[in-house]
Amino acid sequence: MDPHLIKLPRIVLIGNGVLEKIPEMCREMKAEKNVLVLADSITKRVAGERIREMVKGSLEIVHDSTLAEAGRISKSWKPGLVISAGGGRVIDVGKKVAQDAGCLFVSVPTAPSHDGIASERLSLTGQNGMKYSIRTKPPAAIVADIGILRNAPYELIASGAADAISNCTAVEDWRLARDEQGEYYSEYAASMALLSSEIVIKSAKLIHEKKERGIRNLVEALVSSGISMSLVGSSIPASGSEHAFSHALDAMKIGKLHGQQCGLGTILMSYWQGGDWERIRDSLRELGSPVTAKGIGIEKETVIKALLSAREIRKRYTILDKKPLDREEAEEICIKTGVFS
Ligand SMILES: [Zn+2]
Repeated sequence: MDPHLIKLPRIVLIGNGVLEKIPEMCREMKAEKNVLVLADSITKRVAGERIREMVKGSLEIVHDSTLAEAGRISKSWKPGLVISAGGGRVIDVGKKVAQDAGCLFVSVPTAPSHDGIASERLSLTGQNGMKYSIRTKPPAAIVADIGILRNAPYELIASGAADAISNCTAVEDWRLARDEQGEYYSEYAASMALLSSEIVIKSAKLIHEKKERGIRNLVEALVSSGISMSLVGSSIPASGSEHAFSHALDAMKIGKLHGQQCGLGTILMSYWQGGDWERIRDSLRELGSPVTAKGIGIEKETVIKALLSAREIRKRYTILDKKPLDREEAEEICIKTGVFS
């Protein structure tokens, strides 16, 4: 097997009140000058302004998750360190601005809404309205303040939990790609990704009750999921056919939460893989994440269209290549799993 370079975050801080440790962390990374803090109009109040004050840096508001917005910020600043305090949009723009400046990036998630908080990938919309997935370095540091994350809107928390659970179908697809296509497979990264899924399934009740231990398990699961991707330098441990289904919905501009879409996809793809889809559905239900088309607010026909186009959305071998779906089968899956009830 070819050797490959593994890049990982240097510092991962998880706990109550760890936001206050940011200045110390900057000193440790020798990145105290020209710190640019990014936030949106809500997360600036939650964390952005406090961080700016502590690091004596500048604060810029991120308006949308487009390449143009990242370009605008990159033109205005020459940062020595970029710290993003926010959700997916702010974090992905921050990753791009840090990449443009060639400086380190620190991720300070304000909601545990998906595993992008710790990953080396970013997804931004281009001028043509298409989403671009770009590989960059993993964040140099991740600061996950449980006190802040616990107070995020619950819908975002449940969405992050569903994103972690989706690793189970992603790893199953990865095994299939290894067996059928000779795809590189890392036992370690696969186990790590699966562990994230397992711990969230087992913590569903604690997460739903917003118990500190539940939120901590969820955050650690999302960070581990991001690290499993860094280990292989690809999103493959955490993104299989269920993510292809979600990307197909994105392409139709459905605009539901990433984790919610992936959660629905995980039920459907687990059924098609012959997995324990009922356990997945039950834990999503316990989390309060949608398990039906009606629950997520998507037309039945849209679900069918996404299932039928998922295979074409990305060049990654999955169960949809081994067992391509026709319309009748797509409908049958949705009925059998209760997604159409
Ligand atoms: Zn995801």
